[in-house]
Amino acid sequence: MLLSRRTEQFTDSVIRRMTRISNQYGAVNLSQGFPDFDPPQAIMDRLAEVAHRGPHQYAITWGAPNFLEALARKQSRFMGRPIDSSTEIVATCGSTEAMMCAMLTVTNPGDKVIVFSPFYENYGADTILSGAEPIYVPLNPPTFTFDPEVLEDAFRLHPKALVLCNPSNPCGRVFTRAELQIIADLAKKYDTYVITDEVYEHILYAPHQHTYFATLPGMWERTISCSSLSKTYSITGWRLGYIIAPAPIIDRARKVHDFLTVGCAAPLMEAVIPALEFGQDYYDDLAAKYAHKRELFLKGLDDLKIAHTVPEGAYYIMLDIGEFGYESDLTFCEDLAAKVGVGAVPGSSFFREDVNHLIRLHFAKNDETLCAALNKLENIKVLKK
Ligand code: GLN
Repeated sequence: MLLSRRTEQFTDSVIRRMTRISNQYGAVNLSQGFPDFDPPQAIMDRLAEVAHRGPHQYAITWGAPNFLEALARKQSRFMGRPIDSSTEIVATCGSTEAMMCAMLTVTNPGDKVIVFSPFYENYGADTILSGAEPIYVPLNPPTFTFDPEVLEDAFRLHPKALVLCNPSNPCGRVFTRAELQIIADLAKKYDTYVITDEVYEHILYAPHQHTYFATLPGMWERTISCSSLSKTYSITGWRLGYIIAPAPIIDRARKVHDFLTVGCAAPLMEAVIPALEFGQDYYDDLAAKYAHKRELFLKGLDDLKIAHTVPEGAYYIMLDIGEFGYESDLTFCEDLAAKVGVGAVPGSSFFREDVNHLIRLHFAKNDETLCAALNKLENIKVLKK
């Protein structure tokens, strides 16, 4: 018997496949973006207490009220607008569920959705699962900027929504206010929703600053802001994400979320609250820690004379492997894991265009891990054809 048509076009996630391949070869895994350092002590301690005191049963389906209140306070501070925890947020199982839930809330089967390319691979799957049709607009290397004319051509096809990943995975762009304003003007002109993925909102390199799309004039009404606590507090395995949007949108999103997953893990929502109450110092330290890692890793790559992008935000670097003479970047990444001992993600899994000379590495790792990876990369020349 046939299985569903909508899943026929599916492959598994290449990002997560590369983690399995790295593990198979015992490679230093710089493919799937997650840290190998601990979360803040305060939430590990709280988690230990919660293990004994609970809660261990279902929380309220859209998020435990004390968790939502703490999250609304934190996000109100950064977004510079009051967010009502009882009507304007839903807690989701990571931003992965947030994005899927936003897509299902906004689109009908057959609707068009603008996605910038390169893009985080889940957006492709999200559009397929919701029956929407992606329209890809290139972010042109090496600057990864978009052509406003090409973007407007995409808007002329009357998309229901645009997906905006900012700071951007994998290319590391932090869109300027002027770029965001171009998107905002078009979203208004063509009456389109904007679904954001802002999971790297606190991982920024000076002088780049993050502008929450929802805070641009007139954009709150049409923006569905998705984010997560995974990267900000180094807890990718806790699967805590959220959507912030106007109450009528959240009302719908809560229903979608309710039937998709019922809710986030109750003990983890409780345990993370101390982090949501951290002051500005925490976020400054986080940015400084990543700035240090970026410098260390970029310098190492420069010493090895490997051409690469320089991220403005997030923690990904794309390396140019053109000189190695491989036809397939996937084969290159398999060989990199097997023969050099470093896990990376083939760039083709992010691009709509035919691009196979880039691979993505991330540097959300302890300095020792990054140095071990750089040591192994000294042998990268063995891959030259
Ligand atoms: N965002 C991370 C990446 O791009 C991983 C996310 C995931 O695998 N859920 O590697």
